[in-house]
Amino acid sequence: MKTYDLIVIGTGPGGYHAAIRGAQLGLKVLAVEAAEVGGVCLNVGCIPTKALLHAAETLHHLKAAEGFGLKAKPELDFKKLGTWRDGVVRKLTGGVAGLLKGNKVELLRGFARFKGPKEIEVNGETYGAKSLIVATGSEPMPLKGFPFGEDVWDSTRALKVEEGIPKRLLVIGGGAVGLELGQIYRRLGSEVTLIEYMPEILPAGDRETAALLRKALEKEGIRVRTGTKALGYEKKGDGLHVLLEPAQGGKQEEIVVDKVLVAVGRKPRTEGLGLEKAGVKVDERGFIQVNARMETSAPGVYAIGDVARPPLLAHKAMKEGLVAAENAAGKNALFDCQVPSVVYTGPEWAGVGLTEEEAGKAGYKVKVGRFPLSASGRALTLGSAEGLIKVVGDAETDLLLGVFMVGPQAGELIAEATLALEMGATVTDLALTVHPHPTLSESLMEAAEALHKQAIHILNR
Ligand SMILES: Cc1cc2nc3c(=O)[nH]c(=O)nc-3n(C[C@H](O)[C@H](O)[C@H](O)COP(=O)(O)OP(=O)(O)OC[C@H]3O[C@@H](n4cnc5c(N)ncnc54)[C@H](O)[C@@H]3O)c2cc1C
Repeated sequence: MKTYDLIVIGTGPGGYHAAIRGAQLGLKVLAVEAAEVGGVCLNVGCIPTKALLHAAETLHHLKAAEGFGLKAKPELDFKKLGTWRDGVVRKLTGGVAGLLKGNKVELLRGFARFKGPKEIEVNGETYGAKSLIVATGSEPMPLKGFPFGEDVWDSTRALKVEEGIPKRLLVIGGGAVGLELGQIYRRLGSEVTLIEYMPEILPAGDRETAALLRKALEKEGIRVRTGTKALGYEKKGDGLHVLLEPAQGGKQEEIVVDKVLVAVGRKPRTEGLGLEKAGVKVDERGFIQVNARMETSAPGVYAIGDVARPPLLAHKAMKEGLVAAENAAGKNALFDCQVPSVVYTGPEWAGVGLTEEEAGKAGYKVKVGRFPLSASGRALTLGSAEGLIKVVGDAETDLLLGVFMVGPQAGELIAEATLALEMGATVTDLALTVHPHPTLSESLMEAAEALHKQAIHILNR
């Protein structure tokens, strides 16, 4: 049996971070991958969706640029777009494979199964290690009444725009994946209807900024139906007849579309892994149970990323990978950080920390500062003054508790808010920081000023 200090199962964002950090700390590391290096994020998640969003946004901006006199008749070659998207993916996955090799991580292609607490089997061979990190990720959650197939797509199928743009698309699910892919198809020419079961899109985030994003999407012609569920469909000559019903029950209705995209969430991938042989416990939703050191119920076995717990985000998986590898190397690392989340639509949505509601429930005396991008000089010069930055603070201590925003580059701006939370910044600290002018980032400073009723570019009421 070949033995290692550390075996990592899966080379998605979580797995490759763990493998590289383990090697940096002097461990002899084996990484096992059943499919493509880079996992979901690089191959069929973050990266290809962002590439398509960028192409769709460029097309959209060209149309908006008519307002300042730029006339063009853009034509998008979907085949070329697909080739470019694949090129971006290949470059990045090749980069990860190179980093693994450069760090002397051994890469083994095959499907890993536990044989015992410290042993796995891959392609009929046994491999053992002192520590193991499970980073097997997640897969699309199926929806009752909509089995995946030619007419019902998962996110991976939806990425293949070169295979044709449906005239009418129904997106089920108002989370990041549904919103991003829905907007891509709208901007590439589909009529898009998006339904969400909960009363507002992005149900886990701040309601006010989520509602602003919904309105921006509706302005582009995406029909957003909240508080609605899809029951099933029937294929007829003129398309798919989908049955909808209010979330609480009531009058049913039918809509006719050409394709359905199901984006209702993801489920942890543990099937066939033999976790029971290692003594690794999962919870009722199928996530592997872990503590703040990323340890499972089996000593020496860690779990990270989508297979361990929500939120299902790449940067969360990456950080958890570092924590698990450091602990496998004998350090004492904890996952105790702020995790921002971003929706890469145009405008973008981003948030970190506590929402107004959560802060209130946690016992804070909540104060909120708002700054609309319609008052931002930079936003106007970019031709996109839609949006809002919202700062949540504690009235008693002035401590910053959360930041939520919708607008261009929100995903970039949220990093500053995340640093502020990590540093224990007060709202005053944010307001005292000189931000370059004119930039979108100034609006964060002004939202902090607005919380104290001292913003300059809006009237403080
Ligand atoms: C369309 C879409 C867009 C997304 N966009 C974003 C985004 O913009 N930002 C963001 O933060 N997150 C995004 N995500 C989520 C992000 O992709 C995941 O959170 C992230 O990939 C999780 O990383 P992971 O390492 O836990 O697992 P994964 O990336 O799922 O990787 C797991 C790997 O393990 C391998 N594997 C599984 N079982 C075995 C086995 N038994 N043996 C060997 N190998 C195995 C798999 O083949 C896979 O390569 C998106 C997801 C989707 C679907």
